[in-house]
Amino acid sequence: MGAFDWFWKAMGSTTQRNDKVSRSIIERSGELSAQFKAYSDEGVVEAVRAAVGERGIEDKVAFIAGLAEASTRALAMAPFGVQSQAVLRLLEGDVIQMDTGEGKTLVGAMAATGFALTGKRVHLMTVNNYLAQRDAEWMRPLVEFFGLTVGAVTEASTREERVAAYRCDVVYAPVAEIGFDHLRDNQITRREDAVQAPADVALVDEADSVLIDEALVPLVLAGSVGTQQATGRITEAVSRLSAGTDYAVDSTGRAVSLTEHGARAIERSLGIESLYDAEHVGDTLVRVNLALHAKALLIRDVHYIVDDGKVALVDASRGRVAELQRWPDGLQAAVEAKEGLDVSEGGRILDSITLQALMRRYPQVCGMTGTAVEATEQLRTFYGLRVSVIERATPTKRFDEADRIYATAAEKNRAIVEEVALLNGRGQPVLVGTHDVAESEALAAQLRQLGIEVSVLNAKNDAEEARIIAEAGDVGRVTVSTQMAGRGTDIRLGGADESAREEVVSLGGLAVIGTSRHRTSRLDNQLRGRAGRQGDPGLTVFFVSLEDDVVVTGGADSKVTAQPDAEGRITDPKVAAFIEHCRRVTEGQLLEIHAQTWKYNKLIADHRDILDERRAAILDTPVAWRELAARCPQRAAELDGLPAEVREQAAREIMAYHLDAEWSAYLALMDEVRESIHLRAIARETPIDEYHRIAVREFKELANRAVDQAAETFAKVEIDAAGAHLDDAGWKRPSATWTYMVSDNPLSGGGNSLISGVANIFR
Ligand code: ADP
Ligand code: MG
Repeated sequence: MGAFDWFWKAMGSTTQRNDKVSRSIIERSGELSAQFKAYSDEGVVEAVRAAVGERGIEDKVAFIAGLAEASTRALAMAPFGVQSQAVLRLLEGDVIQMDTGEGKTLVGAMAATGFALTGKRVHLMTVNNYLAQRDAEWMRPLVEFFGLTVGAVTEASTREERVAAYRCDVVYAPVAEIGFDHLRDNQITRREDAVQAPADVALVDEADSVLIDEALVPLVLAGSVGTQQATGRITEAVSRLSAGTDYAVDSTGRAVSLTEHGARAIERSLGIESLYDAEHVGDTLVRVNLALHAKALLIRDVHYIVDDGKVALVDASRGRVAELQRWPDGLQAAVEAKEGLDVSEGGRILDSITLQALMRRYPQVCGMTGTAVEATEQLRTFYGLRVSVIERATPTKRFDEADRIYATAAEKNRAIVEEVALLNGRGQPVLVGTHDVAESEALAAQLRQLGIEVSVLNAKNDAEEARIIAEAGDVGRVTVSTQMAGRGTDIRLGGADESAREEVVSLGGLAVIGTSRHRTSRLDNQLRGRAGRQGDPGLTVFFVSLEDDVVVTGGADSKVTAQPDAEGRITDPKVAAFIEHCRRVTEGQLLEIHAQTWKYNKLIADHRDILDERRAAILDTPVAWRELAARCPQRAAELDGLPAEVREQAAREIMAYHLDAEWSAYLALMDEVRESIHLRAIARETPIDEYHRIAVREFKELANRAVDQAAETFAKVEIDAAGAHLDDAGWKRPSATWTYMVSDNPLSGGGNSLISGVANIFR
């Protein structure tokens, strides 16, 4: 018996108990619903409102019955019992697991409306702009049925639109936009300039993607400072290096390192003694590594394209130009220098936050996804969230075939093409899930040679992808797509209008083919979930080769021998078990990275909470004036003639300016510390302990320095009826800011991990 069995037992019994309770509520609310049918709309609203008391929802039965009745009337969708049950679990703050196609959009909207009815503002977080817009419009009648308001924020929203949307009771928005708006709001000096309004609940759709897969991606707010990074000489020196003698790329093609020979060559070109001297390790060596990374690992037209004199990243998992993404600043500059482009203005990072830290800002977090169970442990440790599994409304008729294993990638690919051709010959629709766009394109080309018509999802926008994927279930369709493309869109059998539904059902429904296993079973299951929605028939199968990434990485320390048949297929169960083993290894590696990175981020997140509190006090109270007047009574006396609000606002701006500047410097410093700890991770203390020690010390100093400097500025800057003239004194806030996501996500299963070598430097 393992040490934690008692814990899981305890967990199991609570879940079961909750389950029983909610089931009985659903049963009784079903009976009540019949009664509600006779009510007027106002009557339903009143019944639901009456179910809410001082302490929140007091009569769950009436509450759920009323919500369901409202949905039936406003949306013409009568929620299934399981959907109502899911709503209850969300209102309790769980992450619910509900299969794809079971109607999570409605569940989320009902729960959001439920929260709003108890006076809580909800941010309903979607994975992209398209879904935020679509779901807000789709679900609007339900929210408005109760006289509540709903709005959507997308990347394209103007400032005014954002202000209006964030003041609604239910706000649909992609999680990145919420993060960016939060960062921008942390730069204001007057409360009335805030775009966001406080929210009480984050309800996260595709919760595992957001809370786990993308949790560590930093969202960054940068501002122009008008300096450039001097990468020219280093780029030159690095461009002369040759593979093998001067640098070595590791077997996975993901990391590159200088050889002794290469290091000497660089030292000669730059005229320095040793790259590994203390004075160069933090700076020159980092930039040499960046330039080398840009030269050796980032390939034009695969990892990025050059368009209009600018470098644009290709998001390998989606296969399109990643509008919002940049590499970490230094790498971006290194690639620009390599391509001989103008090195983009050296932005100063003003602030950055990970999605994980963003979620901490909500008093309550809950979420929904088709694949939560595999993430139970992570959701619990990182967010304190419980997972509730919701049954399907109708049992699945999907058939998940065992993996088809091949010795080599070439044999596997041949078999995939044959299988697609076979299914397509019968007219059965096929959705092929690949790992990156290059793979999608190659496969599509082979299929087209056989005269098969193929749709490849590499559209320029999510709306276009949604349109294509919506048709993926039609007769004779072959759709090739990377993992995340088109997610959130329902694949109906017989096409979006279901006109050929009967025919496709008789053919066995949608067939989903995975071209290799992902690094976690959760991602495999996301793909499988595309088939067999709402009790439809369907088929899923993964093709695997012993040359696959997962197998090579996960099986590095063990060997397996097998007897392939003439086609290269391996049916030995030992090999299937070996592949499971490989995947457990890669899954473990990801977990470890996540746990490690979380440790580094946690402290900064704690510090951010303190900063936010301080900033709020500066904005909302006269504390800045009080503190500065106490430090410089003479100066305060000189300003006696000014109206109180002018003096207070001047003090506010001075205090906030220095606080923000110090915070930005602190983030930059801690980034550097992380790098250098990694680079000289030789015997010293445990890196994480040392990192913590430095972070705590620096943060304390930051706080003191910010006040000291504010006092100094307060004493000498010109302050008159127009306020504090900070600009004239050189204390200028950046004139332009921009936001981006750092594309070094160490957990992404897609091709982005190609730059995980450099991610080490930035982690
Ligand atoms: P999920 O997000 O769980 O994959 P969606 O919210 O996209 O699923 O819903 C899938 C489909 O099911 C949608 O077309 C939706 O209209 C339909 N649907 C959901 N709930 C109901 C219901 N109670 N009655 C009828 N149709 C429903
Ligand atoms: Mg959905």
